[in-house]
Amino acid sequence: MRPPERWPLHPAPAETESLSSWLRRIAASYSMYSYELLEHGLGQRELRDADLDLNAPPHLLDELAKRTGLDQHRVSAMTMSGWVPWLFDSLTPAPDAYETYVHQFSLLLSPGRRNVYAPPKWVPWLSKSGIARGCPDCLESGSTLLLFWQVPVMASCTVHRRRLETYEGHPADYIMWTAPAYDQRALPDSLSIMDGRTWQAITTGSVDLPRHPVHAGVWFRLLRTLLDELSTAQGRYGRQLEDVRRIWEHCGHPFRAGLYSWQPFETLHWAVQQQLLEAAAVAMELIESGSLTALGTSAYLLRPEPNIQVSDGTPPGTRTAIAVVQGKPTLDELGKRTRDALDVCIAAAREDPVVAKQLFEFARYGCRSEESGRAVQDTFAELQIPLDFLSQTEDELPFA
Ligand SMILES: [Zn+2]
Repeated sequence: MRPPERWPLHPAPAETESLSSWLRRIAASYSMYSYELLEHGLGQRELRDADLDLNAPPHLLDELAKRTGLDQHRVSAMTMSGWVPWLFDSLTPAPDAYETYVHQFSLLLSPGRRNVYAPPKWVPWLSKSGIARGCPDCLESGSTLLLFWQVPVMASCTVHRRRLETYEGHPADYIMWTAPAYDQRALPDSLSIMDGRTWQAITTGSVDLPRHPVHAGVWFRLLRTLLDELSTAQGRYGRQLEDVRRIWEHCGHPFRAGLYSWQPFETLHWAVQQQLLEAAAVAMELIESGSLTALGTSAYLLRPEPNIQVSDGTPPGTRTAIAVVQGKPTLDELGKRTRDALDVCIAAAREDPVVAKQLFEFARYGCRSEESGRAVQDTFAELQIPLDFLSQTEDELPFA
């Protein structure tokens, strides 16, 4: 006789629950262990929890969807392989995987500033450390383990607003929290905001950034890019070194999280990964508030839309009078407006030769030496403004 296709008992998976956790809870409703359920219910042997959560066999995912009536994509999302191509380009390491994932965008540093590494067998966010992380409050109220606790993409639980902690044991039967004292520090607001965005990416597929929403895949790559920018060699920061030092001072951790030599984020100790995540959160906060120089091509995503006011025809004299009545803008506000306007101008100069030429003339105002011209050209190259825009004559300009 054929076994019934649909299992009578199958607790609903929690949001972002891992496959091994869900199977353990289904098995528990039959007073079984999950390996017994896999073996007797599905004919699967010798599948470790780590294998199930990483890349469970497709036919097993099909079978589980049938047995529980759950959508196949929902079952697949309980494994890391279900997060290709959002969180990962691929789970198979490739020689250019690092460059493709980490150098497609730039936030803090201008493109080309960072060394391009090619760590062997690298897959973003995954390591072989086997460290177990979780939220003590979440695990107090049940034994559901989330897939995203396995990857160092977040440092806190957004529901309970507390840091994730490390543990040993098996949450259903036995658990011992092993987080040292430094893990018990209060959660900084900047980290809470960054983790909130990551959680939004995981649960909704997009993130609301100040400029406009971005796809979850873009968010994960931006975050990994910033972590790379913050762990790059000191000599690559150039004139931004002081800004980068300010980020580390702000979060109270040693410069570059104390790294002496470069290592991919994934292979670092969780304590160091947490420091880098905190620094990334502070960097985002400072970029967003306009108090940090960010030369990356995607930095504008973190800055609010500049408030460009269209003239209502009021004569300038009257406007000055109104400004006096309403109170003068502070130096900080003026600085922020200038930076925002410059960002808009730089973005336009990347596309439009006329704007590029005007910006070039503006940048060289008062310094006509060849040397100053070359210095401005170098800056334009760093900002990815095509230099051939500057050499075009009036006749060649597309809109002249
Ligand atoms: Zn929690």
